[in-house]
Amino acid sequence: MSKGFFIDTTRCTACKGCQVACKQWNDLPVEKTENQGNLQNPPDLSSRTYKLVRMKEEIIGGKLKWLFFPDQCRHCLTAPCLLWAQDTEAIYQDEDTGAVVYTSATRKLKAEDIIGACPYDVPRSDASGTLAKCTMCNDRVKKGLKPACVKTCPTGALNFGNLEEMRALALERLEKAKLMYPNARLIDPDAVRVIFLTAFAPEKYHPYAAAFDRKAWKRTGVGPR
Ligand code: SF4
Ligand code: SF4
Ligand code: SF4
Repeated sequence: MSKGFFIDTTRCTACKGCQVACKQWNDLPVEKTENQGNLQNPPDLSSRTYKLVRMKEEIIGGKLKWLFFPDQCRHCLTAPCLLWAQDTEAIYQDEDTGAVVYTSATRKLKAEDIIGACPYDVPRSDASGTLAKCTMCNDRVKKGLKPACVKTCPTGALNFGNLEEMRALALERLEKAKLMYPNARLIDPDAVRVIFLTAFAPEKYHPYAAAFDRKAWKRTGVGPR
């Protein structure tokens, strides 16, 4: 059955349990990192880091806010990376769960094109040119288990289940969040399987928190990088 996540950033404490659980389940090696002056570490997603708890400090309404964003692939309903690749040996969508899955055959693809096709700046390539990103823990999910990151989250920030249930939960939590954060919103809820709730505008958390239009950026020169 079609699956989805609901990620409530208002409940995230940046404990990084999800980041560690993702490494453990996917047998991903550690990376050499440096202190960035905040809680975020490593500095970006990579072929060895599929889940990254991003952190920013922002002054909002005259007060300092810590913004946490547990970033990962959105498993788009109509995935631009998959459409661009046109190679189901390299990138395919699981018919049952809806997970967008990358295989070792991605090394045949032009990495920068696939990365450029992703509106959330998610895929990363390793030294061999093989692309990698969150798998939705499709191996666990197909056996009736929750993704490792979701199972680990102690606060209820990460939720997983049937897509329609996640959409309903997202709307319910949004209503409650708006009582405290009038600008709270869901990010691209009709386009993705990983629905984020943020208390403030998505771009305050991360330039690619909401879908980024690279074509418009190339046309106008206005964009995050
Ligand atoms: Fe592909 Fe990016 Fe969508 Fe993930 S978020 S399915 S990598 S286009
Ligand atoms: Fe990592 Fe699995 Fe969570 Fe994706 S679903 S971020 S692969 S633990
Ligand atoms: Fe946030 Fe949950 Fe991840 Fe901890 S485990 S960083 S609370 S999403």
